[in-house]
Amino acid sequence: MEQLSFQDAQQMAEALRVELNQYAVEYYVNDQPSVEDYVYDKKYQKLVELETEFPDLITSDSPTQRVGGKVLEGFEKVVHDTPLYSLNDVFNKEELFAFDERVKKAVGKAVSYCCELKIDGLSISLKYQEGLFVQGATRGDGSVGENITENLKTVKSIPLRLSEPLSIEVRGECYMPKSSFVKLNEQREENGKEVFANPRNAAAGSLRQLDSKITAHRNLSTFLYTLADFGPLEATTQDQTLDELSRLGFRTNQEWKLCNTIDEVWEYIESFHEKRSQLPYEIDGIVVKVNDFSLQDQLGFTVKAPRWAAAYKFPPEEAETVIEDIEWTVGRTGVITPTAIMTPVRVAGTTVSRASLHNNDYIEKKDIRLKDSVLIYKAGDIIPEVAQVILEKRPNDSEPYQAPTHCPICGSELVHLDEEVALRCINPKCPAQIKEGLNHFVSRNAMNIDGLGPRVLAQMYDKHLVGDVADLYALEKEQLLTLEKIKDKSAENILQAIAASRDNSVERLIFGLGIRHVGSKAAKILAEHFGSLEGLSQATKDEIVALNTMGETIADSVVTYFENEEVHELMRELAERGVNLIYKGLRTNQLDEVESPFKEKTVVLTGKLRQYTREDAKEKIENLGGKVTGSVSKKTDIVVAGEDAGSKLTKAQGLGIEIWDETQMIQAIEDSNAEGS
Ligand code: AMP
Ligand code: ZN
Repeated sequence: MEQLSFQDAQQMAEALRVELNQYAVEYYVNDQPSVEDYVYDKKYQKLVELETEFPDLITSDSPTQRVGGKVLEGFEKVVHDTPLYSLNDVFNKEELFAFDERVKKAVGKAVSYCCELKIDGLSISLKYQEGLFVQGATRGDGSVGENITENLKTVKSIPLRLSEPLSIEVRGECYMPKSSFVKLNEQREENGKEVFANPRNAAAGSLRQLDSKITAHRNLSTFLYTLADFGPLEATTQDQTLDELSRLGFRTNQEWKLCNTIDEVWEYIESFHEKRSQLPYEIDGIVVKVNDFSLQDQLGFTVKAPRWAAAYKFPPEEAETVIEDIEWTVGRTGVITPTAIMTPVRVAGTTVSRASLHNNDYIEKKDIRLKDSVLIYKAGDIIPEVAQVILEKRPNDSEPYQAPTHCPICGSELVHLDEEVALRCINPKCPAQIKEGLNHFVSRNAMNIDGLGPRVLAQMYDKHLVGDVADLYALEKEQLLTLEKIKDKSAENILQAIAASRDNSVERLIFGLGIRHVGSKAAKILAEHFGSLEGLSQATKDEIVALNTMGETIADSVVTYFENEEVHELMRELAERGVNLIYKGLRTNQLDEVESPFKEKTVVLTGKLRQYTREDAKEKIENLGGKVTGSVSKKTDIVVAGEDAGSKLTKAQGLGIEIWDETQMIQAIEDSNAEGS
């Protein structure tokens, strides 16, 4: 970096912070990003550089302060000046209407209600001083909670600075989206850890981490809905409060509705009985609040809850069925996982006959046995889980379930590693693991080789055509033709897909190798930083940890992986067979140097391309600084029209947008690459 004066650096840093915080609001609060990830990444990296050179520049509202890092000994207590209240529950229409009667009687007239979703997460309270986030706490028992400021700073939808310098305390819910919950549990299962029973537990576990770096990786989000003290705000109703909060930069839930009668409230509630399972987050009910604050004051509180609100709780969606069998399967890393095979039963909209039992501790804790009757539910509204055994229905001759002691596939003895709950097959030659590893290698985010489904790969392995991933690159057509259902044409397609994957940029290979804890995102960061597989294989733990967002677990895992001599043998084989081991993507800090006609242009691809797949073309254009979008609008700069282009082309012509054919695009890509290298 050129020599900068402190003042210049300060100005640049401030400008970057404002810009980055704005992008974050668009992305995490409004769910409407305005820039591509790499634009954010590049500016972020610049800010990190400035702050590294001038540590005095770091402010508490800098986005770099969101990655976590401070490890606490324990959580301090926080006394809530205004206690966090709980809600009175109602479980059916009668109780809801009785609530309405009580309210009407107390205030002497009909009232409007603000109805909101009851988000199934954890209550949080956020304190701001002159617009700066200074403290975040859990609800605890309502009067005393825990100080989790460091963890909440990593939650990207929580503004570190408000749009106005207000001193306020804001309250709401911190939750884990269903998709993050499912992914987290998949990872935990594969890593031999205990899984979370539902998104709420996962959110709670994530917020109670002493190491905020862990929280930062958990993808938590928030919905805020009230204040401890309304002093500084002008709102006089709940619906105004939601608008005000959103204006200040908080994420608020948009599904709320103002209802003028209790019948309308009931209609709203009923509509969510169905919609509920399609929401991207879990809700456990609907909160009905008297909208007008003056009426709320008139109604007041009981010992624990406001008289002006009620929480309608959805009936639990559980179903009863019988455990017929327990099946154990071996994963890519050797973890063996039990699955309950059950009599098919309908629950929350689908028929369910299998549920993961996660590990043997889980089976023991719930004392699940063959032939047991059980209640099942869907965690995060998606994943079938066994809630509990119905003991009264247990057969008389029932015996505790015995977990296997040997791998169901290769027969080697199973072990518990360290403190893992999982049972593992640690035989590196275990066919089940190798097959899973091959499946992973060819998958979309890895080498992306089409045509090689699990059946084909399993056959290849069983027929000794392929023993490891490098063998894929030595396959011949005659060999493929010996496989079931593989004819001339499909054999050629497979060979072509394999051959094409040789040219992948190395992050796909790094992910595809299946190094423990290295997901596709981490693979990209490692590839970009170390430049090649060779470079990564020589990286030290410190070098990896020094990368923003890489934890020790990943670093240890990478270093250990490359200590294995067989891995180096595999690298040699891959190289000999022409597989690219170099990072080809653009380094984010090189983007400045790119000169290309795509730079900062919005491009739409339409029609059939001959030379590139859409995806390849998109990747190439993005690497050259362009943005590829799906639909033509006034903002589009270039439309690349392949063969048989249809309505998008017509629209572009109508708008007078520059139109290229495929040859022009290829020429532009090649020219830019020639200059860039
Ligand atoms: P309960 O824990 O059943 O007494 O319900 C009260 C809790 O519901 C509050 O402490 C909040 O954490 C939670 N909650 C979720 N969404 C809302 C909402 N929109 N309004 C009020 N409370 C909510
Ligand atoms: Zn095995």
